[in-house]
Amino acid sequence: MSENHADIRTSLEAERGQLLVQIDELTVGGEINLDFDDDFADRGQVAGEQGENQVLALTLQTQVMLVERALGRLDDGTYGTCSVCGNAISAERQAALPATDRCINDA
Ligand SMILES: [Zn+2]
Repeated sequence: MSENHADIRTSLEAERGQLLVQIDELTVGGEINLDFDDDFADRGQVAGEQGENQVLALTLQTQVMLVERALGRLDDGTYGTCSVCGNAISAERQAALPATDRCINDA
């Protein structure tokens, strides 16, 4: 593994840690904190905030999934290769978006 990839692994693991902390603040026991029932739409402000938290938590969980996939690609040696066209992803793009699996042309 190149030193560059070691740096990327470190930044991916740091990003995953930060994301998991944010998710933990939005969830209870690993599940999104949804205390909805059938009439949640009538609850106004509270429901709106819960809805925003749900969207945010899903966004964060999606990002964690992308980070973990990138870590998996580091493990299996396919990191840095575009999943669409198979060309190399530039080092600049990897540094800016370490979790990406697509080159600039396929982004
Ligand atoms: Zn590509």
